[in-house]
Amino acid sequence: MTRYLKQNAVCVINCSWDVKELEQQLPAKMRRDLAEKKAKLFIIDATKIAVKAGLGKRINMIMQTVFFKLSAVMPYEEAVEMLKKSIKKMYGKKGDKVVKMNIDGVDASIAGIVECEVPAAWASLAVDTEASDAKTSTVAYAKGPRMFPEVQNASQFAAQVQKPCNNLDGNSLPVSAFVPGGRVPCGTSQYEKRGIAIQVPKVGMDKCTQCNKCSLICPHAAVRPFLMTSQELGKAPASFKEGSRSAIGGGVLDNYQYRIQVSPWDCTGCELCVRICPADALTLGPAEKAIQEEEANWNFAVALPDRGDEIDKTTVKGSQFQKPYLEFSGACEGCGETPHVKLMTQLFGDRLVIANAT
Ligand code: SF4
Ligand code: SF4
Repeated sequence: MTRYLKQNAVCVINCSWDVKELEQQLPAKMRRDLAEKKAKLFIIDATKIAVKAGLGKRINMIMQTVFFKLSAVMPYEEAVEMLKKSIKKMYGKKGDKVVKMNIDGVDASIAGIVECEVPAAWASLAVDTEASDAKTSTVAYAKGPRMFPEVQNASQFAAQVQKPCNNLDGNSLPVSAFVPGGRVPCGTSQYEKRGIAIQVPKVGMDKCTQCNKCSLICPHAAVRPFLMTSQELGKAPASFKEGSRSAIGGGVLDNYQYRIQVSPWDCTGCELCVRICPADALTLGPAEKAIQEEEANWNFAVALPDRGDEIDKTTVKGSQFQKPYLEFSGACEGCGETPHVKLMTQLFGDRLVIANAT
């Protein structure tokens, strides 16, 4: 992201870290770029300001204010006046309360900006690309169908094409990185592991009624029910074992243990699963903690045998034991479209063709 910064650029990071924590949190490559470009660095905890102003996680007004304050594209006072006018126009129909919340967010933004020193020593930091990638390399990947033999190596595609594109470095790719015809392999979103959630749900399995509604509604297939034999459970991480219960529902389910598992790297923190849970079994907690506690559990869960064939997929509960072929979508958090398409892939599997999905 910082590779293309211009000299003396202004860089603002929306984060929950304080100045001291930046040293640990920012990758060496980023710190080196900032120092080499003599960038002016600012941080702001826009999410905290938004929550305080009653805006939930909506940080757009706050970041717009920050942009006008620091970019100097026009006189700041003039920009803020126009911003407030546009808030009244945009949200006036939603009532004075919504207008006030947004204006409060704008007013609180400037006080939240913190300027950070960029130590000159960062310019000589050694950059170990392998080490910076190590975090994601421990993640386990599920197997799925591949459409075309010539582009079937999804992990290679993810490393050579997808990753540079996600790092805003797609322009550096040669034409030869692509397959003639422009086809790309399926199932590459599993390699992204974006880690964009601020809060991630945790399931209280003592409350869970095993309805699978959380999995049904998740737009990103980041929370799923898993079935395992007692023998398989014996090899699970300790906290996975603790959170597993005998599967309920009768029939073939009597043979298995059950657990709801969240993928903390893939969850977007949209909260839909928390809201739909009829048993109030899901609660949100800090994503960093969830990654530490749940990453190994998710890796264990996705490597379990697929038991979809044993279960009737025409019920809400049964459909969620089927493998979703639209998973970890990059749609906006809480997307209302992807749960439907995901469900179709669970019902029709790799016989489903989606054309012009707009
Ligand atoms: S918070 Fe949203 S993305 Fe995360 S598991 Fe729940 S429904 Fe899925
Ligand atoms: S929605 Fe709640 S009760 Fe139902 S499976 Fe998910 S966590 Fe359990």
